[in-house]
This record gives sequence, C-alpha cells and structure tokens, in this order.
Amino acid sequence: MKCRHCKSSRTRKNGKVKGKQRFLCKECGRTFAGKAPKFSAKTKQKAILMYLNNVGIRKIALFLDCSPSTVLYWIRQKHSKLKILPETSVNEDIIELDEIYTYCAKKNRYSRNRQRVAAFALGEGLAAAGEIYSKIKSVTPNIQRIFTDANSCYNEAFKKMVIPEPHTMTKAQTHLIESSNSSIRDNLARFNRKTKRYTKSLDLLVITLELFFNRSTVLNNIF
Ligand SMILES: [Zn+2]
Repeated sequence: MKCRHCKSSRTRKNGKVKGKQRFLCKECGRTFAGKAPKFSAKTKQKAILMYLNNVGIRKIALFLDCSPSTVLYWIRQKHSKLKILPETSVNEDIIELDEIYTYCAKKNRYSRNRQRVAAFALGEGLAAAGEIYSKIKSVTPNIQRIFTDANSCYNEAFKKMVIPEPHTMTKAQTHLIESSNSSIRDNLARFNRKTKRYTKSLDLLVITLELFFNRSTVLNNIF
C-alpha cells in the first residue's frame, strides 16, 4: 500500500478504525486509510457544477449515487478551499441595492464599477438594510449615489443612520442587481420561487452564495 501523503511504499498495517484498515508510513510517519477514495475529484466537481446550476442536494445525491450528506460535505469542503479576497475600492461608485427572499431573507448590493455583487447581508427589513450599507461602506468608502427600489426599509434605515450619500428610490436604476438576483433564482435551487426547497441553516446559505458569486473560480479549480 502506497502512502497517501508522500507516495512512499514503506508502509505497514496500523490497526483498524471502525472496521477499516489503517496504514502507517515509515517514510513520513503519517497514517492513512487503506481504501481508495470512493468518489473521484471529477465526481465531486460535477456535484458542485450541478449545485450551482439549479440541481438540489437530494437530486445530486440521486444522480451521483451518493448520500445527500456526502454532497453537503463536498459543498462545505469546496467552500473551505475558496479564498475570498476583500475587494476594497477607493474609486467613486454607484451602488444598487435589492432584496431577494427565501426562507431566510437576504439583501444584495451591486457595485457598478466592479460589475458584480460586491457583498450581501442576510436578515430582515431594517436591520439587513443597515447592515448592507455598513458592509458596502467598508469596501467602497466613496459612494456617489445609492439606488434601491421603493422598499421602505432602505429609506427608514438610511434616515436612522443619517447617511451622507444621496439615496434614490427608482426601479429604473436597479437593473443590474435585479438581473443578478434573478440569476440566483435561476441557478440556485434553494432560491427558486414556489419551491419546497429551503435553507435550514444560515451558514449553508452563506456558503452557497459565496460559491455562487465566485463560481468562475470555483468551477475552474478542480477539487
Ligand atoms: Zn508517507
């Protein structure tokens, strides 16, 4: 049995854990399980591709012949390897805010300069509106103007916080964030309208969105 870590052949049996043979490497001193991994990196990658293209966890498990908890584990594993760099920009920018509702409510903000969703906040109404403003302010100090729809929570939150930036409520200026939110609906099963699929844990919602917003990186890097 070759060492899983250093590929050395100088290994020996090292007892069993939960019925599975373990090996000890005399070269690097580490131990490893004897059996080859059940699922290839390619299969795991396929699961992520499906997950970010509107296939729910249970269906992925069905198609790939594994358990839903295994799929969940891969999603979390993929996310743990994702390095999200803080994107601070001092350039003047116009911000669009919009909200998308799921079992857990969520708000997104869209930076026109960066042409992407720069961050999101989870929560309801006023609190989330305040949080999203603070988040955007921290990475984009130089906000020229903020556009939202007529959802009153923004107006209330901004009045309460006494923000210096002009805030305009108009549907005509939130196309970019709305199209981003509609792409979330199209590609993430848990955000589909009229669905029974919903998010049981907030941390999984965050993981899912971060994978989605960084999907080019996620899908271009094999497991
Ligand atoms: Zn080794």
